[in-house]
Amino acid sequence: MGENNKTHGESNKTYQGKCFCGAVEIAVTGEPAGMGYCHCASCRTWSAGPVNAFVLWKQDAVEVTKGGDQIGTFSKSPNSFRKWCKACGGHLMTEHPLWGLMDVYAATTPGFAFKPGVHVNYQETVLPVRDGLPKQKDLPKEMGGSIAVMVSS
Ligand SMILES: [Zn+2]
Ligand SMILES: [Zn+2]
Repeated sequence: MGENNKTHGESNKTYQGKCFCGAVEIAVTGEPAGMGYCHCASCRTWSAGPVNAFVLWKQDAVEVTKGGDQIGTFSKSPNSFRKWCKACGGHLMTEHPLWGLMDVYAATTPGFAFKPGVHVNYQETVLPVRDGLPKQKDLPKEMGGSIAVMVSS
Protein backbone atom coordinates (compact mmCIF):
# COMPACT_ATOMS: atom_id res chain seq x y z
CA MET A 1 0.00 0.00 0.00
CA GLY A 2 2.49 2.64 -1.17
CA GLU A 3 -0.40 5.01 -1.50
CA ASN A 4 -0.58 5.24 2.26
CA ASN A 5 2.44 7.52 2.31
CA LYS A 6 0.77 9.99 0.02
CA THR A 7 -2.53 9.97 1.82
CA HIS A 8 -1.09 9.80 5.32
CA GLY A 9 -1.90 13.44 5.97
CA GLU A 10 -5.55 12.71 5.33
CA SER A 11 -5.84 9.99 7.94
CA ASN A 12 -7.32 12.47 10.40
CA LYS A 13 -9.70 13.95 7.90
CA THR A 14 -13.17 14.72 9.23
CA TYR A 15 -16.34 14.04 7.27
CA GLN A 16 -19.66 15.68 8.03
CA GLY A 17 -22.91 13.79 8.23
CA LYS A 18 -26.52 14.62 8.91
CA CYS A 19 -29.99 13.22 9.02
CA PHE A 20 -32.65 13.71 6.36
CA CYS A 21 -33.89 17.05 7.78
CA GLY A 22 -30.59 18.35 9.15
CA ALA A 23 -31.66 18.58 12.80
CA VAL A 24 -28.93 16.09 13.72
CA GLU A 25 -25.38 16.53 12.52
CA ILE A 26 -22.45 14.24 13.14
CA ALA A 27 -18.78 14.12 12.24
CA VAL A 28 -16.55 11.11 11.68
CA THR A 29 -12.78 11.32 11.71
CA GLY A 30 -10.02 9.14 10.31
CA GLU A 31 -10.46 5.84 8.54
CA PRO A 32 -13.22 3.31 9.15
CA ALA A 33 -12.60 -0.21 10.45
CA GLY A 34 -14.62 -1.74 7.63
CA MET A 35 -17.23 -1.10 4.96
CA GLY A 36 -19.71 -3.23 3.11
CA TYR A 37 -23.29 -4.33 2.75
CA CYS A 38 -25.41 -6.10 5.35
CA HIS A 39 -28.29 -8.24 4.08
CA CYS A 40 -29.67 -9.32 7.47
CA ALA A 41 -33.41 -9.32 8.15
CA SER A 42 -32.99 -6.89 11.06
CA CYS A 43 -31.36 -4.24 8.88
CA ARG A 44 -33.96 -4.79 6.17
CA THR A 45 -36.97 -4.67 8.44
CA TRP A 46 -35.77 -1.63 10.34
CA SER A 47 -34.71 0.39 7.29
CA ALA A 48 -37.41 -0.85 4.91
CA GLY A 49 -34.61 -1.22 2.38
CA PRO A 50 -33.24 -4.41 0.80
CA VAL A 51 -29.71 -3.92 2.10
CA ASN A 52 -27.77 -1.71 4.54
CA ALA A 53 -24.59 0.01 3.32
CA PHE A 54 -22.50 0.07 6.50
CA VAL A 55 -19.36 1.95 7.49
CA LEU A 56 -17.91 0.82 10.82
CA TRP A 57 -16.02 3.44 12.83
CA LYS A 58 -14.36 3.20 16.20
CA GLN A 59 -16.81 4.77 18.61
CA ASP A 60 -14.46 7.62 19.52
CA ALA A 61 -14.19 8.56 15.83
CA VAL A 62 -17.87 9.52 15.78
CA GLU A 63 -19.11 12.77 17.28
CA VAL A 64 -22.63 14.16 17.40
CA THR A 65 -22.11 17.86 16.64
CA LYS A 66 -25.73 19.04 16.62
CA GLY A 67 -29.14 17.86 17.77
CA GLY A 68 -28.08 15.10 20.13
CA ASP A 69 -31.39 15.49 21.97
CA GLN A 70 -33.19 14.64 18.72
CA ILE A 71 -31.63 11.17 18.47
CA GLY A 72 -33.90 8.24 19.19
CA THR A 73 -32.47 4.83 20.00
CA PHE A 74 -33.95 1.36 19.79
CA SER A 75 -32.26 -1.88 20.80
CA LYS A 76 -33.69 -5.27 19.92
CA SER A 77 -30.46 -7.14 20.55
CA PRO A 78 -27.62 -6.37 22.99
CA ASN A 79 -25.13 -5.48 20.26
CA SER A 80 -27.28 -3.15 18.14
CA PHE A 81 -28.60 0.23 19.24
CA ARG A 82 -30.25 1.70 16.16
CA LYS A 83 -30.36 5.50 16.04
CA TRP A 84 -32.52 7.88 14.07
CA CYS A 85 -33.64 11.50 14.06
CA LYS A 86 -36.85 12.01 16.01
CA ALA A 87 -37.73 15.08 13.93
CA CYS A 88 -37.63 13.48 10.46
CA GLY A 89 -37.36 9.76 11.12
CA GLY A 90 -34.19 9.59 9.06
CA HIS A 91 -31.78 6.85 10.07
CA LEU A 92 -28.33 7.82 11.26
CA MET A 93 -26.29 4.95 12.66
CA THR A 94 -26.21 1.78 14.74
CA GLU A 95 -24.05 1.46 17.82
CA HIS A 96 -22.44 -1.97 18.33
CA PRO A 97 -21.17 -1.78 21.95
CA LEU A 98 -19.81 -5.34 22.06
CA TRP A 99 -17.50 -4.51 19.15
CA GLY A 100 -16.77 -0.92 20.23
CA LEU A 101 -17.92 0.19 16.80
CA MET A 102 -20.48 2.54 15.34
CA ASP A 103 -22.04 1.82 11.96
CA VAL A 104 -22.56 5.23 10.41
CA TYR A 105 -24.57 4.33 7.33
CA ALA A 106 -22.92 5.31 4.07
CA ALA A 107 -25.90 7.50 3.23
CA THR A 108 -25.41 9.54 6.42
CA THR A 109 -22.01 10.88 5.33
CA PRO A 110 -22.30 11.64 1.59
CA GLY A 111 -18.89 13.32 1.50
CA PHE A 112 -17.10 10.17 2.58
CA ALA A 113 -16.13 7.84 -0.29
CA PHE A 114 -17.92 4.54 0.37
CA LYS A 115 -15.70 1.65 -0.74
CA PRO A 116 -17.47 -1.61 0.16
CA GLY A 117 -15.22 -4.60 0.77
CA VAL A 118 -17.63 -7.37 1.70
CA HIS A 119 -21.24 -8.49 1.87
CA VAL A 120 -22.30 -9.93 5.25
CA ASN A 121 -25.30 -12.01 6.29
CA TYR A 122 -25.69 -12.89 2.63
CA GLN A 123 -27.60 -16.06 3.47
CA GLU A 124 -30.53 -13.75 4.27
CA THR A 125 -30.36 -11.72 1.06
CA VAL A 126 -33.38 -10.59 -0.92
CA LEU A 127 -31.17 -8.68 -3.34
CA PRO A 128 -28.53 -10.93 -4.91
CA VAL A 129 -25.62 -8.83 -6.18
CA ARG A 130 -22.89 -9.74 -8.65
CA ASP A 131 -20.15 -7.25 -7.93
CA GLY A 132 -17.12 -9.48 -7.41
CA LEU A 133 -16.98 -8.85 -3.66
CA PRO A 134 -16.86 -11.71 -1.12
CA LYS A 135 -20.27 -12.75 0.18
CA GLN A 136 -20.14 -13.96 3.78
CA LYS A 137 -22.87 -16.28 4.91
CA ASP A 138 -23.09 -14.53 8.29
CA LEU A 139 -20.50 -12.32 9.97
CA PRO A 140 -16.70 -12.31 10.09
CA LYS A 141 -15.37 -14.66 12.76
CA GLU A 142 -14.11 -11.85 14.98
CA MET A 143 -17.67 -10.53 15.03
CA GLY A 144 -19.20 -13.81 16.08
CA GLY A 145 -19.77 -15.38 12.69
CA SER A 146 -18.43 -18.44 10.88
CA ILE A 147 -16.43 -16.52 8.23
CA ALA A 148 -17.97 -18.82 5.61
CA VAL A 149 -17.96 -17.25 2.16
CA MET A 150 -20.86 -18.33 -0.02
CA VAL A 151 -19.93 -16.97 -3.41
CA SER A 152 -17.37 -14.51 -4.67
CA SER A 153 -18.99 -13.15 -7.78
ZN1 LIG B 1 -33.82 14.78 10.95
ZN1 LIG C 1 -27.70 -6.19 9.24
